[in-house]
Amino acid sequence: MADDFDVIVVGAGMAGSPAAIRLAQGGARVLLLERSPEAGAKNLSGGVLWGRDLDRILPDWTAQMPLERHIVRKRFGFLTKDGALSVDFDDERWKRAPFAAHSVLRARTDAWLAKKAEEAGATVVTGVPVDGLLWEGTGAQGVLQGGEPMTAPITIVADGTNSRVTLGTPIRPAKRLEWNATELGIKETYRLPAERIEERFQLGPDEGHAEEWVAGMLPPGVMGGGFLYTNADTLSIGLIVNIGSMYGQTTPSHELIERFRMHPTIAARLKDAELVEYGAKLISSGWASRPAAFSGDGWMVTGDAAGFVFSNGIVIQGMNYAIRSGLEAAETALAASSAGDASASRLSEYGRRLEATGILHDFREFEKLDRVKWNPRFYGVHPNLAIELFHAMLSESGEPKRHLRELVRAARAASGDSRRDLARDTLDLVRYS
Ligand SMILES: Cc1cc2nc3c(=O)[nH]c(=O)nc-3n(C[C@H](O)[C@H](O)[C@H](O)COP(=O)(O)OP(=O)(O)OC[C@H]3O[C@@H](n4cnc5c(N)ncnc54)[C@H](O)[C@@H]3O)c2cc1C
Repeated sequence: MADDFDVIVVGAGMAGSPAAIRLAQGGARVLLLERSPEAGAKNLSGGVLWGRDLDRILPDWTAQMPLERHIVRKRFGFLTKDGALSVDFDDERWKRAPFAAHSVLRARTDAWLAKKAEEAGATVVTGVPVDGLLWEGTGAQGVLQGGEPMTAPITIVADGTNSRVTLGTPIRPAKRLEWNATELGIKETYRLPAERIEERFQLGPDEGHAEEWVAGMLPPGVMGGGFLYTNADTLSIGLIVNIGSMYGQTTPSHELIERFRMHPTIAARLKDAELVEYGAKLISSGWASRPAAFSGDGWMVTGDAAGFVFSNGIVIQGMNYAIRSGLEAAETALAASSAGDASASRLSEYGRRLEATGILHDFREFEKLDRVKWNPRFYGVHPNLAIELFHAMLSESGEPKRHLRELVRAARAASGDSRRDLARDTLDLVRYS
C-alpha cells in the first residue's frame, strides 16, 4: 500500500518547521504535525536566536520574520544576595548586518515558520498531538495520531525536550522522563514601551541587550542561571534551574523566579514594567539527554529531542542547533527519498552531517562542562568571595589600604571559600569550559 507521505515531521518548533520547509522546497510530500492549536502557542516565548542557519532556506528571513531586536550587547556575571558583578561585552560588529543574534518571541516566530512551511508546499496540521511512532519490527513507518496510523518511509522527530513520542522506544528506552538530563526553565515576560527599553538599556532603535547571570541568590544548594532579554516592547526574564538541586528543598518554583526578579539589579531593570506572561518548561541538558541513537530505520531525531541545547552560564543556545539539525535531517531525508531507501544505514548519513556541521563536536567537546556548570560552589562560596573582595577593594573604610593578597584572604574567610576548592574549581573551569 502506498504511503500517505514521503516524510512526516512531528513538532512545528525550531527544528520541525525549518525541516519541513527544506523538504517541501526539495519536492518531498511532507506532513508537519503540531499538537498546539497554532505553532508556537505552547513554546515558552522569548530567547535569543544566534547565528544565520535560516539563510539556507529563507535567504531574506531577517527582513521578513517577526524578530524583536538585534543583539548589540551581552552582559554576563553573577548575582549574590547583596551584590552583582558582571562583564559587559559591546561589539561594533554586532551593530552591522548581517546581525549576530536576535531576540525572538516564539509565538510569533514559530507561527511564521509554520506558515512558510505551508507556503513551500508542506501539509501543516496543528492541534494534533502525535501519540507515538508507528513501529514495524525495528523501524518506524510513520506515526499514530488519535489511534490512527499515518504512514511515511521517514519520520523526523522534532517534538522537543523529553520527546514523548520516543519515550519507551528503542530511541529512548527509558519509559520515564530523565530528570538528571533535564533542567527547568521558568520564564516571565513584561511589557515596557520601546522608548523606555531603549533609554534604560542605552540602545538605538531595534537594538537589543542580552544578559545571563549565575543566580547565586537562590536558596542554598539550588543551582541555576538567570537571563534577561530585551524585545521590541517587552522584556523576557527567566531562570534555568538544575532539577536535581531542587530535591529536598521547599521553595516552590514561582518563588525562585521571584528571588531573581526581586534582586535589586534585576528589579531596577523591570521598574514600571507590567507582567504579561508566565510559564515553565523543561529544557534538555545537552549530551546527557541525547537519545540512544540519532537515526535508525525510518527515523531521525532533531533539536531538543536529540538533546541539542548548549548552556554554560554565559550563553543559552538551542534554537540554532534545532534549526541546523532539522535542516541536516531534511537533507538526509531528501537524498534517501530519491534513492528509495530509508534504511538505518542510509539514514546514518544524518549522523555524518551532524559531525560535519559541528553539532556533535560541540556537545561531545563540552560533555564535562556539567562538572563546572553544576558545581554548587559556583553558586555559593565563589560568587560570595568575589563580591566580598570587590566590596573591600572598592569601598573606602578610612583605614590603611591593604595588599590584594590580604584582601583575598579576608574575602575567603568572609565567604567561607577555601584555597583548595578555589584552585581546583578554577582548574576545572579552564579545563572544561
Ligand atoms: C526558558 C527557556 C529559555 C531558553 N532560551 C533560549 C535562548 O535564549 N536561545 C536559544 O537558542 N535557546 C533557548 N532555549 C532553548 C530553545 O527554546 C530550544 O532549544 C528550542 O526551542 C528547541 O527547538 P525544538 O524544535 O527542538 O523544540 P521546541 O521548540 O520545543 O518545539 C517542539 C514542538 O513540538 C511540539 N510537540 C511536542 N510534542 C508533540 C506531539 N506529541 N505531537 C505533535 N507536536 C508535538 C511542541 O508543541 C512544539 O511546538 C530556551 C529554552 C527555555 C525553556
